[in-house]
Amino acid sequence: MSFLIDKLAIVGVGLIGGSFARALREAGAVRRVVGVGRSRANLEEALELGIVDEISCSAAEAVSDASVVFISVPVCSIVAVVREIADAIPSGCIITDGGSVKADIVSECDRLMRPGCFFVGGHPIAGTEHSGAAASFASLYQGRRCIITPSAVTDKSAMETVAKLWQVAGADVCIMEAGRHDRIFAEISHLPHAVAYALVHAVGSADVEGENVLSYSAGGFRDFTRIASSDPAMWRDISLMNRKALLNSIDGFSASLSQLRELIDRSDSQGLADFFTTSKQFRDGIL
Ligand code: NAP
Repeated sequence: MSFLIDKLAIVGVGLIGGSFARALREAGAVRRVVGVGRSRANLEEALELGIVDEISCSAAEAVSDASVVFISVPVCSIVAVVREIADAIPSGCIITDGGSVKADIVSECDRLMRPGCFFVGGHPIAGTEHSGAAASFASLYQGRRCIITPSAVTDKSAMETVAKLWQVAGADVCIMEAGRHDRIFAEISHLPHAVAYALVHAVGSADVEGENVLSYSAGGFRDFTRIASSDPAMWRDISLMNRKALLNSIDGFSASLSQLRELIDRSDSQGLADFFTTSKQFRDGIL
């Protein structure tokens, strides 16, 4: 059997890294997978579940004979991992990542590459609110987009290999400049998470005549706030790393909320109907 790549090192065998390994293994695209992480318990679970063939707590050791390294740790740790492994990356090896924020990561990682090693930024547009190796599954990327964010120095053939891997994992690849990626995902992903967390924060802290209202939550509240069950550390890092674009999105959202507040305050029946109709049309349009 001929494999697309020989050895894949996954640094951070959680939902994203574990699912990438599972998908490539299931497709027969990789001969061997080594998993790297900090906690032994998560790595041992990954081994037991057959996500990886071997485990290591030393990223530098694990990547020393890798063909491709996939970094799927929280965004604020990605550059630190690349810095840690930079001298151990073998010539010809491709380093790629799945981080949800791209511009700073791509420029720093490009700078850290030694000649003959190639960095390609990526972001699969798929996920759940669950974390860790046990949460991963092979079909996570089926029919979902994966954004690849080349820079002026990205090697074309390395980018094609990364694109091929995502396609084999089931994703539709889309190429985009990193800064544009960060502005788009501030709106369509980071803002909704911020709003979900803020909404649960507000409602969870509300006190109506001595009663906590969360016990009355039903389908609507639960559907809307599912993503507020995501890992808080991951969203802290994403908010900090995409700070400028996210602040801009929050300002846009605050303006919409203020507009709605004003319509309610003025008892503007037609204005409210128009506001809700426009929103419904946007929402129905994505289904
Ligand atoms: P996750 O399930 O928590 O997995 C992250 C893994 O990284 C954990 O298993 C953790 O294990 C390990 N880790 C954390 N810091 C590390 C470090 N410094 N060195 C080595 N391993 C480390 O998180 P995830 O959802 O897969 O997210 C991973 C990346 O994918 C993030 O950059 C995120 O922005 C991106 N992403 C997430 C989603 C989503 O919906 N979840 C979607 C697209 C992209 P230990 O704690 O045991 O080390």
